[in-house]
Amino acid sequence: MPKESLPGIAAFASHSAVQVVIGATEEGLRAVLFGDERALRLYRRFPVLKFDQRPYEGIGTLDSLGEEGYVLVPNGSVVEYVGAENVVRTRIPVFGSRRLLAIESSQESKMRLLREAMIPVPKEYGSPEEVEGPVIVKFPGARGGRGYFVASSPEEVRRGLETACASGVLRPGERPIIQQYVVGTTLYAHFFHSPVHRRTELTGFDVRYESDADGLRRAPMGVVERVSPTFTVVGNFPVFPRERLLETFAELGERFVEAVVRVTGQPFAGPFCLESVVDRDLNVHVFEFSGRIVAGTNVYLKHGSPYLALYFGEPMTVGRRIALELRVSAETGSLIEVLT
Ligand code: AMP
Repeated sequence: MPKESLPGIAAFASHSAVQVVIGATEEGLRAVLFGDERALRLYRRFPVLKFDQRPYEGIGTLDSLGEEGYVLVPNGSVVEYVGAENVVRTRIPVFGSRRLLAIESSQESKMRLLREAMIPVPKEYGSPEEVEGPVIVKFPGARGGRGYFVASSPEEVRRGLETACASGVLRPGERPIIQQYVVGTTLYAHFFHSPVHRRTELTGFDVRYESDADGLRRAPMGVVERVSPTFTVVGNFPVFPRERLLETFAELGERFVEAVVRVTGQPFAGPFCLESVVDRDLNVHVFEFSGRIVAGTNVYLKHGSPYLALYFGEPMTVGRRIALELRVSAETGSLIEVLT
């Protein structure tokens, strides 16, 4: 098919945009980045990236990109800056499920979907008074864990919530989630659901490098007790789980996709992530999901995902995996299965 009649890929200029642009080019698709001038400038610094660019001026920018034959590949920055409700409203076709993005943007509906998928999740408390043992208190939106705090008594939870309200981290009308703090190691499992191949692929795993939770490990004695850890994501590390855990994650990924299709009533395609803590008995507790590409997949930006190599015989980034699915769906007349 000539390049002009294939859909192009549009991405917000942030997050995982490098691999999305490279992947589009590798699969012979056009790419466009939108965002503010400073965000776009970063991508212009790299001569290898071939893309068109647009200033982001609200939902109208997305609508016009749709008219130009682009498909939106949503990333975390779209959820944060454009807003899930705008992504649901825009006329540009979305790769993956736009309803899932709306579910993802609400902590409550997000956890409900995980439970619907029969995925093990940490216990939740309805109010500070019910708290027993360590908890993590979370606020709405994909804000990199900003302002989250850990507490171990009803009193500590109440105090933390008061501070969050006073500092504006918790806005009026927003409901925090008070969740059991699971002791273990975090593991972020990346997947790609392919209607073309009728399978849910494991694409890799990362661990987030979070401030101040990770920084406190290096803090001098006496500081640790005085700082309540926050979880602002600063970067990501690749991690290779023990092979015996892979089947557990593969099954969780498949259950997730089945639940998404059931709950949204829409087809589902593309990348997603199950964010988990693995405890000392190797039980996996999923505390959150992302229904789109996660920045943790940037850890295999250069060499490609070692797990995707097991499906395709060659390593591949998730950016390229998206472009491949889109191109093949366009060529076989089955775009309806990957776009909403
Ligand atoms: P989230 O925004 O939900 O991804 O949470 C931010 C960070 O908080 C995660 O990357 C974990 O390090 C930590 N975290 C979140 N939920 C839990 C939990 N239930 N138990 C332990 N750590 C958690």
